[in-house]
Amino acid sequence: MKTELSKKKKTKFLKAKCSGCGNEQIIFSAAATKIKCLVCNQLLAETTAGKVRPIAKVVKELW
Ligand SMILES: [Zn+2]
Repeated sequence: MKTELSKKKKTKFLKAKCSGCGNEQIIFSAAATKIKCLVCNQLLAETTAGKVRPIAKVVKELW
C-alpha cells in the first residue's frame, strides 16, 4: 500500500471521543463530508470550506 499523504495538503488524523456514547473514532482532517459516530450516529465533525471542524472532543492528534 502506498501512502501519499502530507505532500501538499497538511492533513492529519484526529481521534475524537463521542459525547453521546464515548466511542473513540478517528477523524480525517481533510474529510469532505460530515462525520458521524459509527455507534450512535451523533455528529462528530462538520466541514467548513474543506476543513474539518471537530464537534466532539478531540482526545489525540495523530498523523
Ligand atoms: Zn457515539
